[in-house]
Amino acid sequence: MVNMAEEKELYLGYATDKAVTPFMQDFLEALDEERLMKSVCPECGAEYLPPREHCQKDLSICELEEFTEREAKLRSYVIVDFAPASLASKAPYVVGIGEFPSGCRLTAHITNLMSQPEVGMDLKLAFETIDKHKITYKWLV
Ligand SMILES: [Zn+2]
Repeated sequence: MVNMAEEKELYLGYATDKAVTPFMQDFLEALDEERLMKSVCPECGAEYLPPREHCQKDLSICELEEFTEREAKLRSYVIVDFAPASLASKAPYVVGIGEFPSGCRLTAHITNLMSQPEVGMDLKLAFETIDKHKITYKWLV
């Protein structure tokens, strides 16, 4: 079994001053305040987390809404043993898909595991400010 007990610093986050569209700007400004936004399609009601500007089903322009759920269950995970070069020193690390009670799912690192992850375990969404205008969200167990 891999040792995942040590504290991992993972910097797969958002540079919140690098928005390329007004939609992303709004998403990133909220993230800077540790508020997570989802997007909702006004035509079909589809929800996207993290938000997408265009609905995948009908290409409508989606609207941002604050996503306030923080408790989730681990739905699936992968233990990354061989990471891309920029993260090679961090491996092994765990990326998990958490499912909120609403059914929305979010992919993020699980950073404080003391043992093997288990599908169904409780997750809590947390934010981490790495630096000014650099923020990420992660799962805590
Ligand atoms: Zn739609």
